[in-house]
Amino acid sequence: MLVTRYPSLRKDPSLRPTTRPQVDYKAFQLTSFHQGFYFGNKRKRENAVSKLGNRNCTPKKEEMEVFQSHRKSSSNNVIVSILPFYRSAPPLEVRLEDFEFFAMDRLRVLKGISDGLCRGKKPEEMEKLVEDLWKANMRHPQAVEEVNKDIISHFVLRLVYCRTEELRKWFLSMETTLFRHRFRLESSEAQRALMSEFKLPYKAVSNAEFESVKDKLSQVARSMGQNLAAADAIFYKVPFEEVPDLVSGRRVFIHKGHAYVAMNQVVSLVVTQFRSYISKALILTNRKWTSTIREQEKDRLTPIVEALCTSYLGPDYSQPQEFGEISIKDIDQVAKTSFPLCMRHLFEKVKEDHHLKHGGRMQLGLFLKGVGLKLDDALAFWKAEFAPKVSAERFDKEYAYNIRHNYGREGKRTDYTPYSCQKIISVTPGIGDHHGCPYRHFSEENLRAALVRMGVSSRAVEDVMDKVHNRHYQLACTLTFEAVHGSSCDAGINHPNQYFIDSQRVLQSKVNGVQFTLI
Ligand code: SF4
Repeated sequence: MLVTRYPSLRKDPSLRPTTRPQVDYKAFQLTSFHQGFYFGNKRKRENAVSKLGNRNCTPKKEEMEVFQSHRKSSSNNVIVSILPFYRSAPPLEVRLEDFEFFAMDRLRVLKGISDGLCRGKKPEEMEKLVEDLWKANMRHPQAVEEVNKDIISHFVLRLVYCRTEELRKWFLSMETTLFRHRFRLESSEAQRALMSEFKLPYKAVSNAEFESVKDKLSQVARSMGQNLAAADAIFYKVPFEEVPDLVSGRRVFIHKGHAYVAMNQVVSLVVTQFRSYISKALILTNRKWTSTIREQEKDRLTPIVEALCTSYLGPDYSQPQEFGEISIKDIDQVAKTSFPLCMRHLFEKVKEDHHLKHGGRMQLGLFLKGVGLKLDDALAFWKAEFAPKVSAERFDKEYAYNIRHNYGREGKRTDYTPYSCQKIISVTPGIGDHHGCPYRHFSEENLRAALVRMGVSSRAVEDVMDKVHNRHYQLACTLTFEAVHGSSCDAGINHPNQYFIDSQRVLQSKVNGVQFTLI
C-alpha cells in the first residue's frame, strides 16, 4: 500500500472535503511482508526487498490501481463474496487523507458495535445494527472502492490498535463481531467459498455416520425450535473446543470430544479461525511497529496512528448550535438541568471554592463557549466567581488573557474546540484538580452521591455503576442522561456539549408536549 502525502484534517472531521484536491505524489511505501507491515521510502523499500531475496513484494504498476477481494465459486467462476480475510496489506496507492478518513469511518463502525454490545443488544438487534453502521460509514456506489476502503481501513486500524494489550483486545473483539455478522449475511455458496479459502481441515460427515447420530441431531435441532430437515443437512465433525460459543449455548451435539456442526452454524468455525489469525497478525504488526515503523514514520504517519484511537468522531461543537446563546442570568438554571456531571461538578466547585485550576478552567470554559456564552459574559462570569479570592487587577493580569485566548482573541487566534468525552476521560487529574470525567475519576462513594443529587433513582444508579465497573464511562453517562430526562438516547453520549444540546431538546419538547427519542 502506497501512502501519499496530504495535509491532515484530523482535528476537525467535519471539514472532510467533498471533492479530492490535487495531492503531491511524493510517495512512501506501505506494503506487507507476510503478516507484518513495512513502511519506508522507495530506496529503503528496495533495500529491504533485496535483503529478502526472492520475495516479490513490489506491486506491478497495474496492480496498484485497484485491489479487489473476491472469490469465485469452484463450479462456475462467478464472484460470490467480497468479504476479505485481511491476509496482506493491499498493493495500493493511498492518499494520506484517505489513510486517516477510511480508518475513522471504520472506527465509527467498531465503536457502534462496542456500544451495542455494552448495551446488551440481542443477536438480531446486533445484526441490524452492524448492517446499518456498515451502510452509513463504509458503503460506496462502486464495489471496488468499497472493498478497497474495507481493506485499507482494517490495516490502518491494525497499526493503531496493535500497540498495547488492551487496544489489541478491543480491536480483536470488535473486528471478530463485525466479521461474524458480515459472514452471516453471505449466501451459503459464498460461505462455502470462504471456508475453503480458510482451508478448514474438516470433512462433511458421511451418510452412514449421519444416519447413526441422526436422532441426537434431531433432538438438538428441536431444542432450538428447528427440525433437522429444515436445518441444512450437511454437518461437519470438529473438536468441541473449536466452537466454544455453540457448546456454551448448548446448540450442538457432542460425541467423544467432537461437535457436530450444521452448515448453518459454520460461522463459529470460520470466526474461530479468523480470530486466531487476526490475533497473531496484531502481535506481528506490533513487533514491526516498535522495531521500525514508529521511528521511520515519526514525522508523518506516527502522529496520525497515535491520535486515531482517541480521536473524536462526532460533530464540531466549537460554535453554539441550535439553542443559540446563554447569558449569565440563565447559567445557574441550565447548569442544574442540562450540564453533564463533569461540567456540573466543575460549576459547583467554582461556586464553592471561588477558584479552579488550569485544567478545570479549560474544560469548563470551552464547554461554556460551546453552549453559547459570549466572551464578555465569560469574562464577567469568571471574574465574579473568582472575586472573593482574586482581586480584579490580578484577574485581568493572570486569567483574562487565557479566556480571551480560548475565544480566539489572543495569541494564534485559534478558535478552540470544547473537549470531547474521550479527551476528558483520558486525562489524569492531579491533587486539587476537579476536571476529568466523574464516571472515571470519582471514587464509587462520591459518584453514587453525585448521581443521587442529580435525581437518578436508586435502581438506575445500580445500572450506571455496573457500566462504570466495566469501564464503559460514556454509557454510564448515557444511562444517567436517560434516567434524568426520562428519554432514551440511542446515539449515546460522546461529547459534553452534545449532552447539553440533547438535554435542551428533550426539555423543550416536554414544554411543547412532544414525545422525544434521541437517535
Ligand atoms: Fe462528561 Fe462525557 Fe464524562 Fe459524561 S461521559 S461526564 S459528558 S466527560
